[in-house]
Formats: sequence, structure tokens, C-alpha cells
Amino acid sequence: MMSVPEKISSYENTNLLFDVAADLVDLDEDMRLLLKTPFRELKVEVPVRMENGRLKVFIGYRVQHNGARGPMKGGLRYHAEVDFDEVRSLASLMTWKTALVNIPFGGAKGGITCNPQLMSDAEVERLTRRFTSRIGFAFGVQRDIPAPDMNTNAQIMAWIMDQYGSRYGHTPGIVTGKPLALGGSPGREAATGRGVSIIAAEAAKEFGIEMKGARVAIQGFGNVGSFTARFLHEQGASIVAIGDASCTLYNPEGLDVPALLEHAAPTRSIKGFESAEIIASDELIELDCDILIPAALGGVINLENAQKIKARMVVEAANSPVTTVADSILNDRGIHIVPDILANAGGVTVSYFEWVQNIQVFTWTEEEVNEKLRRIMTRAYGDVVALMKSANTTMRTAAFMIAIQRVAEAERLRGGF
Ligand code: NAD
Repeated sequence: MMSVPEKISSYENTNLLFDVAADLVDLDEDMRLLLKTPFRELKVEVPVRMENGRLKVFIGYRVQHNGARGPMKGGLRYHAEVDFDEVRSLASLMTWKTALVNIPFGGAKGGITCNPQLMSDAEVERLTRRFTSRIGFAFGVQRDIPAPDMNTNAQIMAWIMDQYGSRYGHTPGIVTGKPLALGGSPGREAATGRGVSIIAAEAAKEFGIEMKGARVAIQGFGNVGSFTARFLHEQGASIVAIGDASCTLYNPEGLDVPALLEHAAPTRSIKGFESAEIIASDELIELDCDILIPAALGGVINLENAQKIKARMVVEAANSPVTTVADSILNDRGIHIVPDILANAGGVTVSYFEWVQNIQVFTWTEEEVNEKLRRIMTRAYGDVVALMKSANTTMRTAAFMIAIQRVAEAERLRGGF
């Protein structure tokens, strides 16, 4: 078992995973230093006049981790726990994710420390526009392109595009995950969940789990969790538990996912859904099931519960849901982990398609988008599994090995240091 300190920062956590793979590809010390050092980090104050007349000053971040393979790409998160360390870690994951699926982007991430559930729509709009004014100079269609993440959505992307455009001229390619009416891509909203379901199906086959009738537990019923539930339900899986910030639902016979999607649509919450019992949120993580899919927060599988996980396979739909120490424990216990940089790469892949369509000023059909997504996801999956077997390592380490080699090659070819 890899020896891992119990209390480490998110960025150290990601870099430990990086180091395991970097050792296996014999990455030299200079290149390690370069690839672990973020390219640019910004922190801004974001003053917002609140509905009660008082001024509140929020803090916003953008970390551009690496741009050797192309413009930097990554989501924008609105959450009370956002800080520099988390954003830095998520930005670095974007570098490895875009390299793994081999799309011509680098990695970035941003966030604002706030609790949008406690804010009015007008406050969220003012926050978004002010943040864009403060940090927009570092964005660019060929520099850095934000997208939705936790608690951000197509409407927020529209406000960013509008605010950025008021200074720099109409620029749809400045953000992805936009509404269709403003140059968004067909298939983008469902893309991350669709990608998770494609990869989960492939991995289930690899690890001898029959998807038809497989018992699946999903934490999170937002963008990623809800589409993942829908697509796995369509594949015949039995979704026995779903949790969100409001409650956790359990039905050993399988939840009626279409009915739950309908129930949650108006409030974006699963609360009040009948035909299920309510369980505690940690019961979902420790449920006796075939496939566990964390699709909400980071660090939910950790030292405290790793020994109690009963799932045969964990598919990381969220970013960093398994801490490094838990990763090590699950590996030792023979529980398969499908890593985030592979499992949830469908979102950034269709973001790439959206960016290409915006640059070409031409729209593809949803069928074309979904077909191209499937091709990219299954190719990346095939690359990872082949290396996992030939190098006799985990899926995560194989994924990092592929990504690191691609980014290191781009850095070497560019030179300049
Ligand atoms: P979202 O805001 O649409 O949904 C988040 C969900 O998590 C909601 O259902 C919320 O209720 C739930 N949640 C929040 N706190 C919770 C708690 N304590 N317990 C249980 N559930 C809780 O966000 P999203 O876009 O679906 O993102 C979810 C995860 O997927 C994040 O880790 C994000 O970084 C990752 N991700 C998102 C995308 C994307 O395209 N949106 C792409 C790749 C990765």
C-alpha cells in the first residue's frame, strides 16, 4: 500500500497521484517541476450589492494550470468551500483530463466562494458579471475558456459571454455550456453524464459486472448525477439509491428514474419524492451495491469510510471524490476505481465541440455530437485499459501516465526554458 499522509491539501492529493504515474514513465525532475507548477493564478475581490442594501465582498479565483497543448479549459464553481487549493487541484486535473481524451486544450479552473442557494438570481447575476469584469482580461478564445461546474449553469455562462462581449465584442467561444440560443452545442448539457454512462458500461464489462440489473448508487442529482442516472437506467441498471444536498432516497427494487427526473425538474431537488425510503447520506456511500457513482462533492470516499465501501466498482463522476489514502485502501481491497479524468471527460469533450462550432460559426446535429463523443470516450477508455494491463497498474495510474506523457511531449517540443 502506498504510504500517504492523512491530512494533505487537495493539490498535494492530486500531485501524489501524478507522482505515482510520473515514476512509471521515468519523468525527469525538471519536467516534474514544470508540470506541477501552475502557469498563472488569479485571485480577485468581487464586491456585490445585496438585496438588503449591504455590500458583500466575495473572493473569486482562476487558476490556469498548463497551456502546452492548447488554450486552457475548465469549469467555474460557486460553492462555500471554494479556495485556492481546491481550484488549483481541479485545474491540474483538467490538464490531465484534456490530454487523456486528446483534445487540444490545457487545463484551468475557477470558482467563487459563495453559497448561491442563499442568494437571489439577481445577486448571482451581479456576482457573475463583476467577476467577469475583474478577471475577463485573462480569458480568451485562444487563452482560457470557462464552462459550468458545481452550482453554475448555462444561464451563468450566458451572463459571462454577455459581460465579456460588452468589453471585447461578441465572442460566443469565450465560454462553453451556453444556452443553445446563444451558440451552445446540442448534447452539451447531457454530455458529462452520457460520458460517465459510456465509460461505466465499458468498465462494467471489463470487471465482469452485468449492467442489466446492476445495482447502482449515485450521490448527486445535478447536471452530472441526473443524466448519469437517466442513461444507466436506460441501459437496464437498477438505480437503488440517489442522494442530493436535500436528502438520500433508497429503493431496493430500483428507483423510478424518469419519475424522479420529472419530480426534481421544477425545484432541482429530489426532496418529497415518494416510492422510496429516506436513508442517511453516508449510508449511500457504504451501500451494498455493484456500482457506486459519486457525482457531487470531492473527498466523500476517505480514510473514515474506505474500509466500509461495499461496491464492486466506483465510477468517479465528480472530481476527486476519492482521497489518495482511500484510493490506496480501495485498490488493496480489490475495488475497481474508474478515475475522474476518464469517467467525467465527456463534458469537456463536448465543450471542445462547442468551441469548434463557435469558431466555425456552424452547428452540428445532436446525433453528430453524441457519435463523436462516443468515439473519443471509447478510444480514451481503450488506451487506458491497454496500458493498465501492459503496465500492470490501476486504471487511474494508467490514465495519468498517458496524460503526463502527452503534456510533457508538448512542453519539450515547445521548449523555451
Ligand atoms: P450541480 O451543481 O449541477 O449538482 C451538484 C449536485 O450535488 C446537486 O444535486 C446537489 O444537491 C448535490 N450535492 C451538493 N452537496 C451535497 C451533499 N453534501 N451530499 C449529497 N449531494 C450533494 O453540479 P454538477 O455540474 O453536476 O457537478 C457535480 C460534480 O461533477 C462536481 O464534482 C463537478 O466538478 C463534476 N463535473 C461536472 C461537469 C459538468 O459538465 N457539469 C464535468 C466534469 C465534472
